[in-house]
Amino acid sequence: MKKFVYKSVAVVFAIVTLMFSFGCSVPASPSKSEYGEIKNIVIIIGDGMGMEHITAGQLYEEKHYGFTDWKFVAVNTDSVDTAGNSFITTDSAAGGTALATGTLTVNGYVAKDWKGRDVYTILDYAMAEGKATGVVSTDNIFGATPAAFSGHALNRGETDTIVDSQLTSGVDLLCASVSTACTDKADAIAQNGYTLCTDYADIENAKNADKAYWQFDMAGYNASVKLEDVTSHALDFLSKDEDGFVMMIEQAHIDKYSHSNDIEGAVKSMASLNNTVETVLEWIGDRKDTAILITADHETGGLTVSTKNQTLADLTTVNGNKMYYAWEHGNHTDSKVALFVYGINPDYSQFDYYKSKHLIKNINVYGVMRNLLNDGLCYA
Ligand SMILES: [Zn+2]
Repeated sequence: MKKFVYKSVAVVFAIVTLMFSFGCSVPASPSKSEYGEIKNIVIIIGDGMGMEHITAGQLYEEKHYGFTDWKFVAVNTDSVDTAGNSFITTDSAAGGTALATGTLTVNGYVAKDWKGRDVYTILDYAMAEGKATGVVSTDNIFGATPAAFSGHALNRGETDTIVDSQLTSGVDLLCASVSTACTDKADAIAQNGYTLCTDYADIENAKNADKAYWQFDMAGYNASVKLEDVTSHALDFLSKDEDGFVMMIEQAHIDKYSHSNDIEGAVKSMASLNNTVETVLEWIGDRKDTAILITADHETGGLTVSTKNQTLADLTTVNGNKMYYAWEHGNHTDSKVALFVYGINPDYSQFDYYKSKHLIKNINVYGVMRNLLNDGLCYA
C-alpha cells in the first residue's frame, strides 16, 4: 500500500511536470474580445538587412535586440523578369513593390506589375478604410522603397514622376531626407494640401494639419535628425485619426553602407533601426491594437560576421571588444531575409511556399497586412 502511494505521488508529480513542460502553462489563443482589434500597422523595413546584418548590429552594440525574440519566418526576396518569370535577385523597387502591393514585378518598377500597370498599395487599402497613412524614410522620398508605398513609376529613376504621384497619392505623411528635387516642388506640395515642415518646431506648429511633408537631414549615422526621433513625431501625427493608421518606416542606410562595404555605417544604421523599433514599442505601451512587422526587401553585400574568426577584418565594438566580418561584394544578394511580427499571428501556414511554413515570399508580407486590414484580429 505504502509503495502504491509513493508510486501515485510520483505519477501525479510526473504528470504535473509534463503539463508545465508541454504547454499547459501557455494560454489558449485569445479571443477577439480579449485582445481587441488591430487598428494600426507599422511596417519597418531595413533596406538590405540580411540576417547577418541583425547579428552584426547586436555584436557591435553588445546588446540583444528584443525584436529577434518575436515570431519569425524567413522570406524569399526574388523579383521577376519582363515576362513575369521569377527568381531574379531583386532591387529595392521590385522588393518594395512586393512588400507594398503583394505584386511580383520587374527590377526598377515602382508599384507597377510586370506588365507595367499601376497596382494598389497597402496604404491605398488603409485609406479606403478611413485610416491615416504615412511613409517615413532616411532615403529621399522618391527612393525606391518609400516610392513603392506611395507612388508609381516604370523606372525608379523617374524622380519627377514619382514625387508628382506621391503628392497626389493622398498619403497623409511623407517624411524623408531633404532633397532639392522636392524643395523645388514647394508649390506643388502646398497645392496638394501638404504642410511643409523642415524642423521639429514646424511639426509642432502643423500638428493639426491634414497632410504633412517633412524633410530633414536624416541621411546616414552622422545626420542631425535620427529616424527613431522622427518616428515618435510621426506616431503622434498619424494617431490623431480615430480609425487608426498604417505607416511604413524605412532605415535605408543599412543598404547604402553595405553597397560600399562600410561596416561601421551598416551596424550604426542597424542600431538606428533597433532604436526605431523601441520607439514604436514605447508608443504602443500596453495597447493591444497595433501590429508591427519588421522585414527587409533583400540582403546587401553578402555579409558574414563572427566573434572568433580572427582571419577576417575586424571592427571595435562599443565596449572596446572586436567583432570580425567579411563582405562578399557590394551588390544585392538573393539570401533569405527575415520577417518578425509583433502583436499578430499571421498564420504562416497559409503561405506555405516550398511547402514549408518557415519560408514565405516577399509578397506574403503584404498578405499578412491585408489580412489585418480585412479582419482586424489581433491574435497576439
Ligand atoms: Zn541597394
